[in-house]
Amino acid sequence: MTMLEDQQQRVREAGAKVGLPQGAVETLCAVRRKLEVSVPFRLDNGETRVVQGWRVQHNLSLGPAKGGVRYHQDVTGDEVSALAMAMTWKCALLGLPYGGAKGGIRVDPRELSRSENERMTRRYTSEIAPWIGIDRDIPAPDVGTDEQTMAWMMDTYAVWAGHTVHGVVTGKPLALGGSLGRAASTGEGLARVCLHALRQEGINPDGARVALQGYGKVGRWAAYGLEREGVKIVALSDVSGSVVRRDGVLLQEIDEHLSRGGMLSELEGESTPFWEVEADAFVPAALEGAIDAEVARNLQTRLVVEGANGPTTNEADDILSKRGVKVIPDILANGGGVVVSYLEWVQDTQHLMWTEEKVMTQLHDVMDRAWREVDAWRQERGVTFREAAMQMSISRVGQAHMLRGLYP
Ligand code: NAD
Repeated sequence: MTMLEDQQQRVREAGAKVGLPQGAVETLCAVRRKLEVSVPFRLDNGETRVVQGWRVQHNLSLGPAKGGVRYHQDVTGDEVSALAMAMTWKCALLGLPYGGAKGGIRVDPRELSRSENERMTRRYTSEIAPWIGIDRDIPAPDVGTDEQTMAWMMDTYAVWAGHTVHGVVTGKPLALGGSLGRAASTGEGLARVCLHALRQEGINPDGARVALQGYGKVGRWAAYGLEREGVKIVALSDVSGSVVRRDGVLLQEIDEHLSRGGMLSELEGESTPFWEVEADAFVPAALEGAIDAEVARNLQTRLVVEGANGPTTNEADDILSKRGVKVIPDILANGGGVVVSYLEWVQDTQHLMWTEEKVMTQLHDVMDRAWREVDAWRQERGVTFREAAMQMSISRVGQAHMLRGLYP
């Protein structure tokens, strides 16, 4: 089953559960608009290379479309559609006034020089420019793109429009209308949700044990957010390997070691394999599909809090559910990034600049509310967190769709 078919199956199941009419469910299973573009750009050696790109808007019932742009050699149109769909559910779940979108270019950005990357980004932006806009569709960074990519996208759009439009993309550098607090946003939101989940299990965060896969943009900030509340990171892994310490690793020590060019795997620790460490919560914040059936059978934990997108396979999800391990789904747990993207867009549209404290307070409020709502839905209907999150999102988007009616 492709990622898109998998999403569509979940939509049909959740749509039936919340009593959405068949026509509305099928509308939500389809993407509204899919733009495929070819992106020719000049290489440094003077030759021209052509790559394939997409911008997909899945649904616009709740507001303008929102979603990242991914540069990766394996990106396909179907994958971009599935990711756009996931953005619709994530935004609806968090109560943001957005529909879902995603963009992508099938390219390995590591093969490109900075100037090649800039020319490709600008040409891609000019191809999708008629579709995007502050009230239409607002791109952001994703895998393989960053704030520099957003700066080029904003500038290209501004040249096209004839004036500066800060709010056409989010995840921009601060100097160009970016928001304070953005770098930490996904990890901070993830930590917040993890703390709620621990408390709900009757576990005091102060002294609780968490194992964390991935120490990148998401994992590192999540680790700091957890450590601040007294949580012990008993296992930490990245692409180099892992370090396991029953008494918890010290993040400052890790950062000093990494900043000297060291690797996580070189740090002294215990020999227990990463996935077999006993912990109150496991937080996968690295890769899609990291928790497969075998990992799910061995995990020694009560909670999995999904920082990465799609880190648990469907089979693993069933196994965890049977073993009584609660899984807090990605669309809730890693939603902090799009929340601060929304706050950046609000500042841009009103020409405001908020303090980091103000941004963080609002991020916490949105994550806390989303947690309470999903948890209440779950308890009332006796379903899993994942089912609750999906059913809530579909019912919100479905309701907006029904209220607006079908044109013509
Ligand atoms: P990143 O590239 O900054 O970090 C990825 C981390 O995973 C790195 O520490 C890397 O060493 C580690 N890693 C890679 N392969 C590994 C392996 N085999 N075993 C253990 N660790 C491994 O990426 P990121 O932005 O932190 O994204 C991580 C995940 O979170 C992705 O699934 C991404 O789609 C998702 N996500 C990111 C954001 C965001 O704001 N960055 C928002 C929502 C979801």
